[in-house]
Amino acid sequence: MRAPIRSIPDGMGAAALTILKSVFGYPSFRGAQAEIIEHVAAGGDALVLMPTSGGKSLCYQIPALMREGCGIVISPLIALMHDQVGALREAGVRAACLNSTLDAAAAGKVERELLSGALDLLYVAPERLVTPRFLDLLDRAHLALFAIDEAHCVSQWGHDFRPEYIELAMLAGRYPAIPRIALTATADRTTRQDIVSRLTLGEARVFVASFDRPNIRYEIVEKQNARAQLLEFIGTRHAGESGIVYCLSRAKVEETAAMIAGHGLDAIAYHAGMDAAARAAHQDRFMNEDGVVIVATIAFGLGIDKPDVRFVAHLDLPKSVEAYYQETGRAGRDGKPAEAWMTYGLGDIVQQRRMIEESDGEDAFKRLSIRKLEALVGLAETAGCRRVQLLAYFGEASRPCGNCDNCLSPPRVRDGTIDAQKALSCVYRTGQRFGAVHLIDVLLGRATERVAKFGHDRLSTFGIGGDLNERQWRAVFRQLVALGHLHPDHEAFGALKFTDTARGVLKGETTVMLREEAARPARRKPGRGAGAGLAPAGAPSAGLLEALRAWRRDVAREHGVPAYVVFHEATLESIAARLPRTLDDLRGISGVGEKKLESHGIALLDIVRLHTG
Ligand code: ADP
Ligand code: ZN
Repeated sequence: MRAPIRSIPDGMGAAALTILKSVFGYPSFRGAQAEIIEHVAAGGDALVLMPTSGGKSLCYQIPALMREGCGIVISPLIALMHDQVGALREAGVRAACLNSTLDAAAAGKVERELLSGALDLLYVAPERLVTPRFLDLLDRAHLALFAIDEAHCVSQWGHDFRPEYIELAMLAGRYPAIPRIALTATADRTTRQDIVSRLTLGEARVFVASFDRPNIRYEIVEKQNARAQLLEFIGTRHAGESGIVYCLSRAKVEETAAMIAGHGLDAIAYHAGMDAAARAAHQDRFMNEDGVVIVATIAFGLGIDKPDVRFVAHLDLPKSVEAYYQETGRAGRDGKPAEAWMTYGLGDIVQQRRMIEESDGEDAFKRLSIRKLEALVGLAETAGCRRVQLLAYFGEASRPCGNCDNCLSPPRVRDGTIDAQKALSCVYRTGQRFGAVHLIDVLLGRATERVAKFGHDRLSTFGIGGDLNERQWRAVFRQLVALGHLHPDHEAFGALKFTDTARGVLKGETTVMLREEAARPARRKPGRGAGAGLAPAGAPSAGLLEALRAWRRDVAREHGVPAYVVFHEATLESIAARLPRTLDDLRGISGVGEKKLESHGIALLDIVRLHTG
């Protein structure tokens, strides 16, 4: 394999670009990549905040190739490590990983390679890095840098806290001369401050990229019949495409996967309760085959960098805006149109609040969790642009995007003060002891068994809500909770109770603006169906693209890596469109680096020739 290119600081930018082109096959840097790479290559510390798929990996991979010694990459998930190392080796980089899946002999070999200077990049799990044995090894090795990936794992306020990350603080003291670069896609203020203080990155330069993912269309719909809604969403807009469906519980994952599969779609389950082999097999199918829908708990995802996931659907409410953003961010990493779709209702808020209240965290932590949940509910209830609100959460100002449900069919907002007063007074007169279902029965004047049992048909609020239907009342209660005038009491089975602000509404001191679900016009799907991006049938390149994909499948199988590690879909599409005749033509295609040109160039040219006569 090739030796790393070394350079003097003056030629830093040029050296970085040379590596980008020759090793990774890309023509130019994205966003702040060049600046970050130069800063780290010159020995500086950095904190990099970049959205999922923004291109964080190159920010440490290229400096590691530019500097003397081996770059140590701390990464929390073995699956991620494995794929990254596979991709690097395909590109001719001397990379390896050390984790619990290696036997002693294999680990010993990697350690010897590290010491003899035969590695450019070494991926290691945090718990392994901090062992005395590994630190002793590091002391004797020549180090280029430390990259701390998924750095938000160091923060207890974050959503993936990992105690091992705390110990990484010692790197600063033990290796003061080695630059450290911490990277994350989670950037709310608290987490950011935590990363800086816990990893002693006070001196580090902070790079904040835009968090926008313009190709993702956001849509949050009112939960009515979640399964039917999901089926329609997938069936009409994403049939035959890869996607992820998130559910909270294992039982619901199993049930939902079976339900989707029962409708003729290729759906499989993934959750922590499955045995390891079945889980790995399902993940493998999702990663390597086209058009698989994986239904999963949030245990699935960290480190999944499948580029062509066309949709992420939530059947349950995530815990926070960060979690929502991270999970939806797994859609459309290839930059093509993708959708983030969620169905949500009052029951979801009640359920999430109960989970928080019943968890055994400290009170301060619970309060913070509730605030995070409220921010997400605010996003779900907003009548404005979802993207504007999402980005504002991460401290970024933006304009209405034109690519979210609210921009595409703006919901009407009306003065709902009178309805809110009716709802609140019904809560009050029934003693703040009931949930929305019963309250709506009372408002609609339904003589149910429960209504009779509690004598609620004798209340002044019985039957006063006839001007709205059940669905509209559900929306009123949900928004009263979202606006903070009511809160579900988990100790009373989700009974809705007054907050401090409820009386102001009842007395007419506070106006309540309510969002009305627009009768949404059927919209065209954002991308095309299965095979989006294909040339029209009959065009010469359609068969060629298929042939290229088949060839890629074989190579991937032979090398034991996911197909996209061999070449991204976009690269195959460029080849099919540009019909290269020579190795030089191929070199000009994004995603074709020198190593891949050497390994696959001739084969690719043969396939092109065969299909174009
Ligand atoms: P992150 O770690 O930020 O989620 P990655 O580093 O995995 O993102 O990059 C996302 C995708 O973008 C990868 O497929 C990567 O090869 C590609 N990419 C990154 N930088 C560039 C670039 N400068 N030009 C073209 N593609 C790039
Ligand atoms: Zn918008």
